[in-house]
Amino acid sequence: MCCATGERFHDTPKVVWQDRLAPVRKLLSENQKIAACSSCYHQEEQKVISFRQLYNKQFEKVSTGKLPRHLDLDLSNFCNLKCIMCDYTRSSTWAKESGKFKDTKGVTEINESTLDQICELSHDLQHLTLQGGEPSMIPQYVTYFDYLKKNKIMPNVHLVVVTNLTNLKEKFYSYMPEFKSVNISVSVDAYGEANNFIRYPSNFEQVTKNIKELVNQRNNMSVKVHSALQILSMFNIKDFADWFVDLERFYQSKKRYIGQYIQHVHEPEELCIMNAPTNLKHHFVDQIRNTGFSALADSINLDNEYDYSRTVNYVRKICDVRRLQLEKYLPAFSNFY
Ligand code: SF4
Repeated sequence: MCCATGERFHDTPKVVWQDRLAPVRKLLSENQKIAACSSCYHQEEQKVISFRQLYNKQFEKVSTGKLPRHLDLDLSNFCNLKCIMCDYTRSSTWAKESGKFKDTKGVTEINESTLDQICELSHDLQHLTLQGGEPSMIPQYVTYFDYLKKNKIMPNVHLVVVTNLTNLKEKFYSYMPEFKSVNISVSVDAYGEANNFIRYPSNFEQVTKNIKELVNQRNNMSVKVHSALQILSMFNIKDFADWFVDLERFYQSKKRYIGQYIQHVHEPEELCIMNAPTNLKHHFVDQIRNTGFSALADSINLDNEYDYSRTVNYVRKICDVRRLQLEKYLPAFSNFY
């Protein structure tokens, strides 16, 4: 079941697959509704496209079998960034900052026997999504790749890697040509210093360089910039749109394709674009006209009321803990707050 159900199992991968998910699969194959999917059914009643519908569409041609056809793995929280909308469960750098998991220097990871079981369950794999932490820096993924390679599983697998692309780890990327296809989903949420603040301590220039470097990978790889827009993206969104157009031109000049996927952050609510001051929303809507973000204009509720001091406090607290000067990263912030 997907993360939208809120259902969490704490058993081993084999027990989850055989004992917890088998009854669910049986009910679903008989077209029966299950309680865990109630939020999706509810959205569908409201005529909103649910995760259930999206995944059913994505995997409509994938048949069921004795072993999983699709795995979405988070093997560790090891990450070199502490993005403002992330937390200690997903980022070891956040964990260190907030004093969590001290015994392991902030890092959580699965143990060897769990990874062994995941390997054994992977023989019929067709789709694989890797998240983290930062997957390219997590050694367990390299161990897993070795297993997939040794057992000749890689040529059957469409791989998606969700990455901050602050690094191009040679070892990790050396496996990419072995997969049936690869989609690199690069998380970038704003232009320049604004992105460096959101995705601290990321380096926007380096990430841009790394995105361009990916055109040199084999043709089985496609690239997508995945943007989770938030209040801190709004001040110079036009620069961000122009930056993406430049990237598109660069990719076209190399006869390759780069796509963009846009979402907006709901949590923490202090950063949700719906909770921006009205004059910032107008500034945002004016900038996104005739850009790749223009569709967002219709979804912005200009009359939404919010206590803006909450956003100020949230951002200032981050600055205090990290000893950052907000004006350096987001000079326009004080014009609206
Ligand atoms: S790169 Fe991803 S995992 Fe790392 S801190 Fe940012 S959002 Fe979290």
